[in-house]
Amino acid sequence: MASGDGLVVRVRPPLGRLTLAQARRLARLALAHGNGALELSSRANVQLRGIAPGRHSAVLRALAAVGLLDADAARERRRNVVLDPLHRPHEGVAAMGRALQQALDSADDLQALPAKFGWAIEGAPGRLAGVSADIRLQRTSSGWLVWPDGREQALAVRDAQQAVAVCLQWARWFAGHAARCRTQGLRPGRMAAVARSLPLPPGMAWQALHAAQGQAPAPGWVPGLGWLAGAPLGRLSASALARLLRALPPQAGLRATPWRMLLLEDTAAGPPRPVWWAAAGLDHAAEWITSAEDPRLRVSACTGAPGCAQALGPTLALALELAPQVPPGAHLHVTGCAKGCARQAPATVVLRAEAGDGPGPVYAVVRQGRAGDVAMQRQAMAAVRDNPGLLFSEK
Ligand code: SF4
Repeated sequence: MASGDGLVVRVRPPLGRLTLAQARRLARLALAHGNGALELSSRANVQLRGIAPGRHSAVLRALAAVGLLDADAARERRRNVVLDPLHRPHEGVAAMGRALQQALDSADDLQALPAKFGWAIEGAPGRLAGVSADIRLQRTSSGWLVWPDGREQALAVRDAQQAVAVCLQWARWFAGHAARCRTQGLRPGRMAAVARSLPLPPGMAWQALHAAQGQAPAPGWVPGLGWLAGAPLGRLSASALARLLRALPPQAGLRATPWRMLLLEDTAAGPPRPVWWAAAGLDHAAEWITSAEDPRLRVSACTGAPGCAQALGPTLALALELAPQVPPGAHLHVTGCAKGCARQAPATVVLRAEAGDGPGPVYAVVRQGRAGDVAMQRQAMAAVRDNPGLLFSEK
């Protein structure tokens, strides 16, 4: 994807996991060809930014050499599956992910699916509650639920084979819907808008479902799995990643998460701290978030200016500067325009850059809403910075 600062290269780690060698390659590529940082996305992808168009082929060859490149762009696009990063072996999430990805890989009749059409596979109810998905697969005590977004009903199936068959049937149905919309000059939208019309596979019945409320986990020890460590605003310097990789035990891997954190696999590295902690640089607060109380967990921001050509103002530094003002339980999202790339969920306050009358941008203040929602007021950046507390005290 082209952006204001060069190409953005999105890497979907296979089944949500990177080996140390793969992660090392990404760090080297970010340093050699990119802007020296990696972005952890809200769909558990890892992105390189600032790639010069002339280096694109070299980057793709390097990704292919470590198994991080799909056969073609269409397959990569279809493989829009977020796996529950906290899954345990007995939950069968990885096996389900493998089965779904293999089916999507060979489903060449899904070309009409919108680029954002996505899937989520949960090992327990609510673990990916904040992650958008058109079709969600949820582990139960007796099998799986297949749940289309927009319905409070799901289908209960016994195994991965049956679940994948339902998924593919619904995806084909939605692809047909999308193709018909486009021939009429309409946008196909997402599953939530049409899920009430979904065909029921023969012999199956809807079962009522109450969506589990889930929250993003906090950084720290995940018993039996490893350590969750975040990067401020999901941006991790390649040098910090390289240092971490040198310190981790060789059998470790990294699981990408949709919470802008990495799960550092090491089942034996329980609290208070693993032996490799200091060598990994995890005490370096400018690079890592390792405490649940860190106020930077309460802010998010899209790339903004100058990295994004569509941005009407800067976002990243402002979000970090305002983080200490965001009360516990609240969330501030700073966006460079109304598109809302970096956060789909509502936030307590959204600051949206807009063109002002003067030389600099103004920031529209949306309360309890999303990037594109109606603003209550507009403020110059200086006013926001001078009185940041007002953002969370005004009604
Ligand atoms: S929300 Fe707008 S400004 Fe921000 S990255 Fe997306 S397109 Fe760019």
